Amino acid sequence: MNRIPIVEIFNSIQGEGPNVGARCIFVRVKGCSYACKWCDSKFTWGSDSYPATEYTPEELIVHLSKVTHDTSCRRIVLTGGNPCLYDFSEVINQLNHSPREYEQNITFDVETQGDILPEWLKTVDTVVFSPKAPSSGMKDTFSNIVSYIKNDAGPNQHVAIKVPVFNDEDIEFARKYAEFVNWHTMNCDDDLRMYLSVGNSDVEETGQIRNRVLADYESLITRIDNNPTNFENVFILPQLHTLVWGNKQGV
Ligand code: SF4
Repeated sequence: MNRIPIVEIFNSIQGEGPNVGARCIFVRVKGCSYACKWCDSKFTWGSDSYPATEYTPEELIVHLSKVTHDTSCRRIVLTGGNPCLYDFSEVINQLNHSPREYEQNITFDVETQGDILPEWLKTVDTVVFSPKAPSSGMKDTFSNIVSYIKNDAGPNQHVAIKVPVFNDEDIEFARKYAEFVNWHTMNCDDDLRMYLSVGNSDVEETGQIRNRVLADYESLITRIDNNPTNFENVFILPQLHTLVWGNKQGV
């Protein structure tokens, strides 16, 4: 039976990407197909401190119906971990086509590194690919992401690329994606946004971290300005939630 292990469901604002600032319900799955060195969500990998609850699709539909009703949030963000490890097709299909008034206009966003591309990914409103730069120690997913954007993205689907960078090697990695975004902008009608953000170099630090993050952000802008080739269509943004809440979870 299809069961989806979920570490947390909470409502907050989207802190990054094309829907930054939108009120959202985050559904954070357990488990990831990657193990990035600087992952800020290691608690999703499986830990006694953060046990997951397993939902059948039917149970999750009921739960999310209630949360969307109670919070008046209409945007559900599937994140993790890697949500593409699981089958969300029924959940998305049911909530997108619900006859109940308070469940209508629900949209789904997915955040993933792009190594696994399930069929249901084509049915969501927004896909944010976050390929992992060399500092992560993980494999690049460039060919998967480019192929999805060129061949598979659903009609009217918004696709964005978001790269957190920690060092100059990561900036060169991002430049390759920026070059593709330029090509896409010149040759395709649909909008493809790309975002660069500074990586969070200390995910254990407690309290406010905004001064450190903003200093890193200033440094990133300077480095891009010093070598701007291919970054014409890139948006450089800090992660809003880290400025507001630091490393706090569940907000
Ligand atoms: Fe963490 Fe994301 Fe990397 Fe998975 S892909 S290990 S959730 S940063």
